[in-house]
Formats: sequence, structure tokens, C-alpha cells
Amino acid sequence: MGTLVTALVALADTGWSAPWFVMSGTLLGCLAYLALKIESSRRQAGELRRLQAAYDQLDQQTKLIIRTDLELHHTQEELDRWLASLMSLHHLGRQLQVSLRPEEVLSRLDAAVVSKFGFTTGLLGICPSFQAIEWRSLVGVDAETAAQAASHLVEQAVLKQILTNPAPTTLAAADALTPAQRRLLELLRVPTMVVAGVMPHSGPAGCLLLGRAGSATNPKADEELVAILANQLASAIESSALYEQAWAAQHELERKVQERTRELADANAALVRLNKAKSDFVSAVSHELRTPLAAIKGYSALLHSGQFGPLAAPQAERIAKIEKHTDLLTHFINNLLDIARIESGRTTMERRPIPVKEFLETVHEMVHPQLQAKQLRYTVDLNSVSELLGDPAHLQRVFVNLLSNAIKYTPDGGAIHLGMQRDGTVVTASVSDTGCGIAPDDLAKLFQEFYRANDPINQQIRGTGLGLALVKRIVEAHGGRIWVKSEKGNGSTFFVSLPVA
Ligand code: ADP
Repeated sequence: MGTLVTALVALADTGWSAPWFVMSGTLLGCLAYLALKIESSRRQAGELRRLQAAYDQLDQQTKLIIRTDLELHHTQEELDRWLASLMSLHHLGRQLQVSLRPEEVLSRLDAAVVSKFGFTTGLLGICPSFQAIEWRSLVGVDAETAAQAASHLVEQAVLKQILTNPAPTTLAAADALTPAQRRLLELLRVPTMVVAGVMPHSGPAGCLLLGRAGSATNPKADEELVAILANQLASAIESSALYEQAWAAQHELERKVQERTRELADANAALVRLNKAKSDFVSAVSHELRTPLAAIKGYSALLHSGQFGPLAAPQAERIAKIEKHTDLLTHFINNLLDIARIESGRTTMERRPIPVKEFLETVHEMVHPQLQAKQLRYTVDLNSVSELLGDPAHLQRVFVNLLSNAIKYTPDGGAIHLGMQRDGTVVTASVSDTGCGIAPDDLAKLFQEFYRANDPINQQIRGTGLGLALVKRIVEAHGGRIWVKSEKGNGSTFFVSLPVA
């Protein structure tokens, strides 16, 4: 531009005319305008290039964002599926914990569980050996196809392979597979499958096949999931097998207990029969003895009365002894007869209210001579008990027997106390003495027929060992209980509890 102006000035200097100069000026202006336009277009082209570059960059970033978003979405889906599978595992685990039989455990793998794990086909079976599968749960596959799959697994030794290497393995049609594995996928009509062994320490082994209609997105994750599932199934089978063992043992124990109970019941029935035979025998013998005894007693009383002439003193003395021993023998036989009668249920106990005060006065009258003879202190504490319930005659024998024993086994000058206490519907009477007491070994046997404590003092005192046996039977026939507390040399207390309602 500068060069052009310089050229025009030079022309004017060389004497060019005025029109020429005007034309030249116009041309110059046009040229300058042109030059300015070119400059401006060059700047705009530069701007355009920068804009293009910025646009390209933006476009790339947008594509990146869309790609990342897609990947995120995919990962999210994958995570959701994992979460659902884990939840399903958790639920299944809880169900398996309460399954008590192996059969039940295996049937827990149902369609809901299989689909929650993201699979479409599921086969779970028990394998007693490498040569046999018994399907226990089939999902998305019919029984005929399952039977074909079982034969194929056994015949082609795929089962052996699964059970010797039980870790979950993915079989995908796209991978390099053995012909047997490929055939298995074809049989079950799935492109992908995870196979695993279920190996409890005890109980039968199992085999698990889970197939997917589409291709696996994350085979490693599927295998991990199936590994957890197989472990859960294995421990559930194990615990149910243990439970079955325990159940069988308990069953056996119950059977044995029942058997023993039956034997015991039989033995008991035999004992009852024997006891009845014994009671019948004792009754019969006692009856037979009572008649001649009554005769002896009658004749000795006649002799004693002097009806057949006066008796010399030694004769009267001997006859008195005959009478006394006859009385003792009669008493003994009566006791025997009563025990036999109560045992055989031939004696019915009355059940009526007994005013305690009058009742104990009668009892006291009966033992008073013995109490006096030994100068024993006798005290009674009724504790407001006013009534007993039962058979007065039989209960009288109970109290007379207990007091007679207390008197017999307490040295002269001792003390005897009779107490009563009501507790709800039961009255407990106690007869305590300051006598010789009873050794621990004897305590448990006192109530047996003919038992007498084995100690020298006891042997000097006359007795038959039948009194307490009779007392026990009368008390029990009233629905009551009798027991004793005693210490050798420190007196004894006999307790009798009787229902009063
Ligand atoms: P017995 O006719 O021998 O007294 P019992 O059946 O009445 O028969 O008593 C059985 C045994 O219990 C007695 O031989 C005696 O050893 C013991 N016995 C009973 N009552 C007492 C008592 N109050 N103190 C010590 N021993 C007693």
C-alpha cells in the first residue's frame, strides 16, 4: 500500500495531469479498501478455525460423557443384580437354617431363587456316587431333559469331574470347551452355565448346574456367587444330616425307653399279682389262726375266772401269761389282716369330718397308762386346727401307733409332743419324742413290713415291725403321706400329712 502511494506521488512529480491524478487517487482508495477487506477476511478465517477447534473439543467431551454415563448405567445394573443375588442368598441361608431334612434343603432351590441369581435354568441333585444323580430340584427344565442331562453327566464322566473339582466353573459356548461340555450346554439349551459340586463333610454330595439364557457379563462374579450358594447348601445338608442322626438316635432311645417301660409295666403287673397272692395267703392264714386263738383266749379266760375250780398262784400266773401272749398274737394277726385288706382294696375308708379335740382326747385316753408308767411329759399344740377328714377308727390307729412308738422308744422322764399345722388344704400332724432316735440306714426301711431297727436298745423292746407298715397304708389310703426325721440319740419326729378338703 505504502509502495503504491509512493509510486503515485512520483508520477505526480513527473508532471502527470490533474484528471490522471484524480483517477489515481480513486484507484488508490479502492486498493486500500481491498487491502483492508483482505486483512479482515484473514482475521475472520483465523477466528473460524479457532471456533472449529473448540467445537471439535466440545463434541469429543460430549461423546466421552455419554460413554461414561452408559458405563455407569451398566455398572449400576450389574450392582443391582449382585445386590438382588446377595439378598436372595441371605434369604435362602435363613430358610436353609430351618430346614431339617436333606430332602427339604435341596428343594429350597426353586424358580424364585434361580431367577434372583440371574439364571434361567437350575438343576440340583444328590450324587450317591460318580455314577448316579438323583435330581431333587429342577427349574426351567423338564424331567425328560434332566434325565438326559443326568445320563450324559454320568456317561461322559462330567459328573466325576465336577465332584473331584467342585469349585464353580463357567462353561460358555464361545469358549474352548470339551465336546462333552458343549453337548451339555446343547442338551440344556443354554449358551452359558456355571457348574459346581456341593460337598458337605457328612451326608451325600450334590451337583449344581445353573444356566443363563444370555451370555455372562461377569463370569467371575457369577462363579463367586455360586460358590457361596454351594457352600450354604453343603452346610445345610450337613446340619440336616446331623439332625437326622440325632433324630434317629432319639427315636431309638425312645423305642428302648418304651420297651423298658413295657417290661417294667409287665414286671409291675407280675409284682401286683404276686403281692395280691401274698395278701390273699396272709389273709387266709390269719383267718385260720384267729379262730383257734379265740378259743385259746376263751378257755384261758374261763380257767382264769375259777369256774373249773380254784387255781394255785403259779397256775394263775401261767394262765395270765397265756392270755397276754394270746392278746399279743391276736394284735399281730389283726395288723397283718388289716394290712392285707387295705392293700387288696377290700377296706373302704370313711371320709367324714373329725373334730380334732375330741379325737385326740380319745387317743390320749388310750395311751395315758403307758405315758404315766414311764412318767413322760405329753404336750399338744393344735395351732387352731379344729378338724380332720377321714375314717376316725383308722386314723385313731395311726395316732395311737405313733404315740405308742414314741412312748416305747423314749426313756423314762422324757417328753412327747403332738403338733398340728394347716397349710391350705393339708393338715400336717407331727409326733416328736426325746427318745433313742433312728440311724440313717434304718430311716428308709422303717415303713417296710417286719422291719425293726438293728440296734441293741431296739432289740430289748418288744415289737413286731408291723405298726408303721400299717400306719403308712392307712395314711396313703386317705391320700396322705408319712415321713420321719430323726438323729441317732436325739429323738425322732414322725410327720403325717392328710388332705382336709
Ligand atoms: P415295732 O413293733 O417294732 O415298734 P413299728 O413298725 O412300729 O414296729 O416300728 C418299726 C421300727 O421303727 C421299730 O422297730 C423301731 O426300730 C423304729 N421306731 C419306730 N418308732 C420309733 C421312735 N419313735 N423312735 C425310735 N425308733 C422308732
